Amino acid sequence: MITIGIDIGGSSVKAVLTEIGARTIATRQVSSRSGEGPGAVIDVLHGVIASLMDEAGDSRVEGIGVGMAGTIDIDEGVVYHPPNFAKWDAVPLASRLSERWHVPVRLDNDANCAALGESWYGAGRGLDSFVGMTLGTGVGGGIIVNGAVYHGTRGFAGEIGHVSIDYNGPECNCGGRGCIEAYVGIGYLMTRALPLLENDATSGLHERAVSDPGSLTPRDLTEAALEGDTTAAGILSDTGTKLGCAAASVANLLDITTFLIGGGISGAGDLIVQPMLLSARSRVLEVHRDSLEVRLAELGNDAGMLGAAALLRSGDGR
Ligand SMILES: [Zn+2]
Repeated sequence: MITIGIDIGGSSVKAVLTEIGARTIATRQVSSRSGEGPGAVIDVLHGVIASLMDEAGDSRVEGIGVGMAGTIDIDEGVVYHPPNFAKWDAVPLASRLSERWHVPVRLDNDANCAALGESWYGAGRGLDSFVGMTLGTGVGGGIIVNGAVYHGTRGFAGEIGHVSIDYNGPECNCGGRGCIEAYVGIGYLMTRALPLLENDATSGLHERAVSDPGSLTPRDLTEAALEGDTTAAGILSDTGTKLGCAAASVANLLDITTFLIGGGISGAGDLIVQPMLLSARSRVLEVHRDSLEVRLAELGNDAGMLGAAALLRSGDGR
């Protein structure tokens, strides 16, 4: 089955022409023109689709899948006010694309697509069920059950970033308190890390933390930790511990015990994975303890478009 998968991000649109689960035929990446309103973004999509349809030649393209941040009505194919897109209220994206290209169009949110991409092409291959976590500015989540995205009653399931690990914890931008995102979302993480680095004159990152704090990234923490910086390693370890708290709650709730982590901070690898596993094991119900597993996502920024391409097959099992 040949489909087109499109990942619409704030800065770029990434698209793939693929035979689902088998091979990538062609890819495209162009500016998403997110600041110019929905009309401009849709023009970009038509351009990318036209180019990939050309590439398909005589092969029939059986559908288009689209992943995007924001609130998405997956049944109606409408995207409501995605973050970082100008003048975008409610846009019936699925019908705008299907009317022009005469193929089925499926939409889903970016985190669900990333998890589905890993399920078909990456670290989730061979797993019936797992929870994908994308660690970025926010913490996205996608629940895969029997090879398909679990959507909940209205399509909003999987928001693992807002699982609270402390009812009295720091305020999250969702209005809640102690959400895992309010600790490990990149902005929150670096805000917590800075005073620790500023107060440790022996840290290799100390000087930058004092003179140019805005330049520090999770990658700097990882590099410093790998060079033996105990403060940086401690920050990453603490991040893993907190992720493990959330993972234990999720495992207890869903009886799903495999977690895939991707996105910026996951680049720390074992510096985060091992403490996350230890923390989750120490908290989860005993029946789940031995089956807990944390894997690193494999597809990086390609996960979204590959998962979007697989939306046309999602739900019919494998
Ligand atoms: Zn929250």
